[in-house]
Amino acid sequence: MEIKRNILLNPGPSTTTDTVKMAQIVPDICPREKEFGSMMKGMRDELVKIVHGNTDEYTAVLFCGSGTINIDICLNSLLPEGKKILVVNNGAYSTRAVEICQYYGMPHIDLKMPIDQPADLELVEKTLKENPDIALVHTTHNETGTGLLNPIRRIGALAHKYGAVFTVDTTSTYAMRPISVYDDNIDFCMASAQKGIMAMTGLSFVIGRTDIIKKSAEYPKRSYYCNLFLQYDFFEKTGEMHFTPPVQTIYAAKQALKEYWAEGEENKWARHTRVFEAIHAGLEELGFRNVIKREWQSGLVVSVIYPDDPNWDFMKVHDYCYERGFTIYPGKISTTNTFRLCALGAIDKQDIEDFFKVFKEALERYNISIPIIYK
Ligand SMILES: *Cc1c(COP(=O)(O)O)cnc(C)c1O
Repeated sequence: MEIKRNILLNPGPSTTTDTVKMAQIVPDICPREKEFGSMMKGMRDELVKIVHGNTDEYTAVLFCGSGTINIDICLNSLLPEGKKILVVNNGAYSTRAVEICQYYGMPHIDLKMPIDQPADLELVEKTLKENPDIALVHTTHNETGTGLLNPIRRIGALAHKYGAVFTVDTTSTYAMRPISVYDDNIDFCMASAQKGIMAMTGLSFVIGRTDIIKKSAEYPKRSYYCNLFLQYDFFEKTGEMHFTPPVQTIYAAKQALKEYWAEGEENKWARHTRVFEAIHAGLEELGFRNVIKREWQSGLVVSVIYPDDPNWDFMKVHDYCYERGFTIYPGKISTTNTFRLCALGAIDKQDIEDFFKVFKEALERYNISIPIIYK
């Protein structure tokens, strides 16, 4: 079967291989069968190993949902009674974490910082010092809206210095930028299958310290479907997800993990870097400007400022590229008009070079000046 190959430059879901797509076509199976359970057990261990965790200390808990479910689960499940969450917030995804705190009515501090620079560690430490009731510190590794990378290793070290648990949203770095839960001081991280491991949407996972999950059994229960201990405990007792898993998505993820190990952590990161450099080279040639300083970028997302050209129309350019198999994506910053080009997925340098031919044609087609005009 021939499947059209689209190059997705949006921040997930990402372009997948045909072998991952086809892995979803399997005989019907009831996920309560042992065969299915043992597949998930192997997968959980592999997910821990991707971030170099020891499976005696760290575990992976699977959920059916998009990546946001992980943020919800970690925050609502890991806050003890009478304690507070600190969200180190310099972007849209940490703002989402703040909104989750608000929805559950959980005591929290929204430590808002500029969205175009890495988190201010002195301010983080000052806040921790002044608020000894902070039990959980949360932040985002790669703020996917801008492509800003946060210094998680140092934020994690501060959290631990003040006795707090560190949860980090690694949805847009996991299985791309190398992460080590030990070196990076991570108690909990998370991702969804459609990003770094290049599988399908609908499967998400939290990777974290087993001892803390066990302890959280005594913490207030704020959600039924989205409770970390409940899901963990069910997995441990039965080998199954508490409720119906996304069966075919899990088969795709299994194949994607096989391909992850075959490519290897180092080679995969080198490929994403190649793609990222090619995106920068293409943009530079046309005269586009970035939102985030190059040295602060995650190496996975390029956030580009709209030209000040009366003929610029993002949707027209988008549609022109889309019709030719390339998807570009709007930005996520309220103050500046931007679009994004991302280095996720099963793509390589050549795909980016092919993209820029089409992108340039689109600019010419709509009489947008090259080099790009900025006032
Ligand atoms: C993609 C992403 C998520 C999950 O978003 P969904 O819309 O639920 O898929 C969470 N955090 C970050 C940093 C992301 O990039």
